Amino acid sequence: MKVVEKFVSINGEGVRAGEPAVFVRFKGCNLACTYCDTKWANLPECKFEEMSPEEIVEYVAQTGITNVTLTGGEPLLQKEIRTLMTLLVENGNRVEIETNGAVKLDSYLAEPRPVFTMDYKLPGSGAESGMQMSNFEVLSHEDTVKFVSGSMDDLKRAKEIIDRFDLTKRCHVYISPVFGNIEPVQIVEFLIKNKMNDVRLQIQIHKVIWDPEKRGV
Ligand code: SF4
Repeated sequence: MKVVEKFVSINGEGVRAGEPAVFVRFKGCNLACTYCDTKWANLPECKFEEMSPEEIVEYVAQTGITNVTLTGGEPLLQKEIRTLMTLLVENGNRVEIETNGAVKLDSYLAEPRPVFTMDYKLPGSGAESGMQMSNFEVLSHEDTVKFVSGSMDDLKRAKEIIDRFDLTKRCHVYISPVFGNIEPVQIVEFLIKNKMNDVRLQIQIHKVIWDPEKRGV
């Protein structure tokens, strides 16, 4: 598996935001979002460490942290991701997959099933056409759909999708600002004005605690 970085920090987002977590970031992505903050990890020349699922499990075990986030890039593009998820869960870890919404989740639902935090790419990302809408059907109450929003148009589209798929009944729903493009207060006002019950604003905590450009946090 192509690992570009691995580290212990806190979860910056999702239902476990603020908790200690171990991160494993994989190389490569099948999208190219305008606001991507890990573009470096998707470049062909990006250096990586080749690790087997067993070696990754061993690394996680020696950190002593059981809250594991597999991210990228797009982690589901790694051939052995299913094996890794199974081994991590069998070793007593809670496994969260950060996925971009452009990979079908059907083949990852067998037990032991990880928790998915799935993006829905809004128009401002330039990647909306890649979204696999059928994924909404397979989400559970443990999972999260995250809308990264950089404009009022993005917010309107997020509301349309949330309403059309009745998302708040299916899973957790978060809206996050594109750092520097929209003020969080605009999202708050939008949520209140549109009475978007059960939808949460989420600020990426790691970008508040550390320099937003800092890696490995
Ligand atoms: S899906 Fe994520 S990693 Fe891939 S280009 Fe978009 S923001 Fe970057």
